[in-house]
Amino acid sequence: MAKTLRLILGDQLNYQHSWFQKVDESVTYLMMEMRQETDYVPHHIQKVVGFFLGMRNFSEELKSAGHQVLYFTLDHSENRQNLRDQLDFLISKEDFTRFEYQLPDEYRLDKILKDICEKLPVPSSFIDSEHFLTSRDFLKDFFKGKKTYLMETFYREMRRKYDILMDGKEPLTGQWNYDHDNRGALKDKKILKKALIRPKDVSEIVALLKKSGVKTIGSVDTEKFPWPTSRAESLEVLAYFCENLLPTFGLYQDALTTWDPYLFHSRLSFSMNSKMISPLEVVQTVEKYWYQHQDQISIAQVEGFIRQIIGWREYMRGVYWAKMPEFGEMNFFGHDRKLPEWFWTGKTKMNCLSQAIGQSLDLAYAHHIQRLMVTGNFALLAGIHPDEVDQWYLGIYIDAIEWVEITNTRGMSQFADGGIVGTKPYVSSANYIKKQGNYCTGCAYDSNKKTGHGACPFNSLYWHFYDRNREKLEKNPRIGMAYRTWDKMNNKTELLKQAELYLEQINDL
Ligand code: FAD
Ligand code: SF4
Repeated sequence: MAKTLRLILGDQLNYQHSWFQKVDESVTYLMMEMRQETDYVPHHIQKVVGFFLGMRNFSEELKSAGHQVLYFTLDHSENRQNLRDQLDFLISKEDFTRFEYQLPDEYRLDKILKDICEKLPVPSSFIDSEHFLTSRDFLKDFFKGKKTYLMETFYREMRRKYDILMDGKEPLTGQWNYDHDNRGALKDKKILKKALIRPKDVSEIVALLKKSGVKTIGSVDTEKFPWPTSRAESLEVLAYFCENLLPTFGLYQDALTTWDPYLFHSRLSFSMNSKMISPLEVVQTVEKYWYQHQDQISIAQVEGFIRQIIGWREYMRGVYWAKMPEFGEMNFFGHDRKLPEWFWTGKTKMNCLSQAIGQSLDLAYAHHIQRLMVTGNFALLAGIHPDEVDQWYLGIYIDAIEWVEITNTRGMSQFADGGIVGTKPYVSSANYIKKQGNYCTGCAYDSNKKTGHGACPFNSLYWHFYDRNREKLEKNPRIGMAYRTWDKMNNKTELLKQAELYLEQINDL
């Protein structure tokens, strides 16, 4: 009798995949918690717990719908802890005659699975994961022959293709992008709304990780795990977002404040990256909600949110498949410094970094501008090796999976790709951080001071970065102005000296 084994990876919890539309007695689904995945980088404990809990919920749902599932917990006596050994073991033990898998999102897993399939004793095949709006190679083909991949061009194509916020062939209201309306600084904490959190007891999984000796970073409240780990919970978070957070999402999405870690952000990245909900359904739900509430919500809020998903998220995935594996090696500036020790503890006198890192360690979450303009900005100014930066980002966030982490970190944030993802490096002095919120108030450093005792390190490091990378950046038309300003400055020597001093003492900042 034909017997098929189908693999479901931890980030393939797609309840709507065609595989699950009918029950087939000849098919068994395989899900496993494995050391291969817990150990390839030190992950935040909430990330491992989130994936395991999501997988367990998914397997229960499949079973209650009548599907056959083989689920291996981390401590299962027959768990071989890696894909190759587990498949060899199961195929011979249970006499499977065929193996099937969904295309993985990561290059690493894609390679492992291709290698395994070449040597399997049974025929194998793969199917699309049916999650993204485009195929793996769409972006590569779309920009064929072009040196740069402009996100905005891709984004407009997605709007047209999926008829989102469109009026025929034109954008609704005639304007494609409202980015300029999305930069408000938060002045009043009274307007903040609490995030929707359904706390869960995860003590059993945490005890399992401890017992198994899995090395993790960060902390978890075992009785109040805050992340959605099922489709139903994810949909609830989405509905809450539409009703409560969407009206001011765009306006304050770049705010940096100690008042609240989530602000008006959706907290949906883990739900989407694990595929419990799809990007298209998120975007269509938000669009529909807006059409029904146009009198209360401006289009700038909605467009800003939709752009993040069908624009940036989808674009990053396309860049990943167009540029891997070379992308993972890129180091445009030749940066080689080690990450300061306080990235792993949050113990630095720089309030912005202490807030963003502390929050990341406590919650496995930081919003986009904390990632880009606080931690990422510092790492780039200080010349940290992109491998070190990548490893940190890949471990620390609940939503960190390589296809979206590396493109954002090495590409957008560290400009290590020399300008594939972004047209110029995202760097700033203290000015930007000060303008965006209240981090500088109460900081041990003075945001207005550039040199001397107590001067904010961002101020001198900013010019040090431009000065040392002059040859690589001067010809960039978006940067020339910075060099004209630098050339006119009369305290260059003091600034560079100050920066050198801070770099020497980087672990004590
Ligand atoms: P919201 O602000 O509510 O945005 C809605 C959704 O838009 C997000 O859930 C996400 O799916 C999508 N989105 C927004 N910006 C981006 C972006 N630049 N790239 C891809 N999708 C985006 N996102 C990840 O999902 N995983 C990562 O590992 C990751 N690493 C990052 C590393 C750096 C250095 C930077 C600058 C950004 C990174 N991002 C990553 C993008 C972004 O910061 C997160 O998606 C977002 O903070 C998640 O929170 P949210 O769901 O509340 O997002
Ligand atoms: Fe960060 Fe400098 Fe502001 Fe302190 S003064 S919070 S180090 S930008």
